[in-house]
Amino acid sequence: MDTLQAEKENLLDLIFPYFCLICGTETNTAAPHYLCHECRIKMLRPQGASCRICTTPLAVNETKDTCPDCRKQKPQFQYKAAYAPTIYHGLARQLLILMKSAKKKILLKPMAHMMVEFGQKHIPDIKDYDLVLAVPMHWTKLTLRGFNQARELAHIIAQTMDIPTADNTISRRMFSAVQKRLSQKQRSINALTSFRQGKNIGQAKDKNILLIDDILTTGATAAECSRLLVQAGAKKVSVLVFAGTEQKSKKTN
Ligand SMILES: [Zn+2]
Ligand SMILES: [Zn+2]
Repeated sequence: MDTLQAEKENLLDLIFPYFCLICGTETNTAAPHYLCHECRIKMLRPQGASCRICTTPLAVNETKDTCPDCRKQKPQFQYKAAYAPTIYHGLARQLLILMKSAKKKILLKPMAHMMVEFGQKHIPDIKDYDLVLAVPMHWTKLTLRGFNQARELAHIIAQTMDIPTADNTISRRMFSAVQKRLSQKQRSINALTSFRQGKNIGQAKDKNILLIDDILTTGATAAECSRLLVQAGAKKVSVLVFAGTEQKSKKTN
């Protein structure tokens, strides 16, 4: 965010009362929440264990830390674990759609805030992480939306947690707009060719990395980014996203 934009937003915070950006209720909650307490609570995922790879809630009788779908695929995931404060449905889905379709960058603030809060509560080794990175977005999508939500989230999270962040450690190799129409297997193969090490990849060396994205679906994207980071000497990578999905069968990208 440039200085002028930041100053404008700070000024708006001072002048206007706070209204929840989802339900419109006037709220006492100051920035950077922008959402009322009720909407935030409604959005949070139910308590309980979730799959270490895809964040899908696990069955109560599940004895492993991964879901049956992830075990079936036997994927080569090089991230330690993935975490998500919400599941992609209801209000969380509404918030993401609003952020993307209406290009409401301001919604990234409450999202990032919820991610940090969740991370501090549920990531056992949260204090180890010393670099925050974003899953890169292809420039064509960036041109359409005007901002990369993962990068914006990573910057807010890095600032909130007082950890450095870096850009261009990983970059997109090709446009994957067709990704949505592909099968899960094809998508995993596609992801392998979608990323490459960027010009600042050296910054990943010896770091414990928190990799940020807005949604985690199959985990193929996060897995490929992690692979590149581990290859470049990262000690460990964990993934923190705003929303995970409920079941693999419902996943769309
Ligand atoms: Zn609300
Ligand atoms: Zn899973």
